[in-house]
Amino acid sequence: MSEVKLINLVKKFNEKIVLNNITLNIKEGELISLLGPSGCGKSTTLKLIAGLIKADGGDILFNNESVINLETEKRDAVIVFQDYLLFPHMTVYENIEFGLKMRKYEKKLRKEKVNNLITLVRLKGYENKYPTQLSGGQKQRVAIARALAVDPKILLLDEPFSNLDIMLRDEMREFVLDIQKRLNITTILVTHDKEEALMMSDKVAIMLDGEIKQFDTPKELYKKPYSVEVANFFGERNYINGSIRENIFISDIGKFEVNHPNIDEVSVMISPESIYINNKFQNKELVFNKEYKLGEKYNYNNITGRISKKKYAGDRTYYNINIGSYNFKLTSINEDCNIGDEVSLHIDFRNAVYFKTNQQIKI
Ligand code: ADP
Ligand code: MG
Repeated sequence: MSEVKLINLVKKFNEKIVLNNITLNIKEGELISLLGPSGCGKSTTLKLIAGLIKADGGDILFNNESVINLETEKRDAVIVFQDYLLFPHMTVYENIEFGLKMRKYEKKLRKEKVNNLITLVRLKGYENKYPTQLSGGQKQRVAIARALAVDPKILLLDEPFSNLDIMLRDEMREFVLDIQKRLNITTILVTHDKEEALMMSDKVAIMLDGEIKQFDTPKELYKKPYSVEVANFFGERNYINGSIRENIFISDIGKFEVNHPNIDEVSVMISPESIYINNKFQNKELVFNKEYKLGEKYNYNNITGRISKKKYAGDRTYYNINIGSYNFKLTSINEDCNIGDEVSLHIDFRNAVYFKTNQQIKI
């Protein structure tokens, strides 16, 4: 269990800056994600923390002590790689035992630890199987047990679920979360999967082009992105341009009541789930939306749009809607509108985010 601090970490490959001043504070027992597209520097960051490669600048502290000059074995941080890297010629038991043997644990203690881990990762009965005889999920559980065997303070997981099929992925996410919370082990999860990062993490660091753009709780990140860049990383958003005078947002598509100081040339971000269609199932969605209490008064801003695209996705339907010169995206539980329909809409401004030159306006 350890607190981790990355301070202005820099890494270059062939003079090209791959990590540019990475700073992060991770509290003891937290699970945080590094989330970003392929090539943004996530694995490089993990390798630096584990001591597999050397930094070109900055520092790494575990419990406020620098580990930057310590060898891998002395850092108490272990990586589980995407493709598990199990030893093919060793059994499940021997794979898990490996690190303990290297560290010269006595045989009796090794046996006790390995057996406990086998129980923890639910692999009883598989002790004598070889990696080729295991499923993807089982291999991954061996890799996790092998990593945990040496009692690391920090667990580093590099895209651990991306090789698993969807059903198994959900199960393994639950499994890892359960172990992580039970052992209270500080964990850094690398992923390019937004939903995975939001669902699993205490906090998420958005990494783009070797920089951390925002480090926040999942809800803050999704609802209050610092920049349009971060906002768009999470998917489609809508932006309306205009200015604000006395809590009225005067835009190209109408005037709306908002709660914001006066400002010119503002771009207001509305998420696809904050626009509601009002057709023959009038108000159905407002009732279903948990954030509106039943009977709560709302300022229904009733604007008109025409549906230009529709994609049915089971529990929700994606629409594109033309309103004036805008083409808005909206996500709805209402599946009954069709392309070409004229619909009246309500735009909910309570979760709006206000941007100026692509940066969030802080009040
Ligand atoms: P991610 O894990 O986010 O996909 P990486 O950290 O693996 O990204 O890589 C970040 C960048 O550094 C990429 O452009 C990659 O090509 C480059 N890179 C990674 N490792 C090396 C290396 N050993 N030598 C040269 N370039 C590397
Ligand atoms: Mg990677």
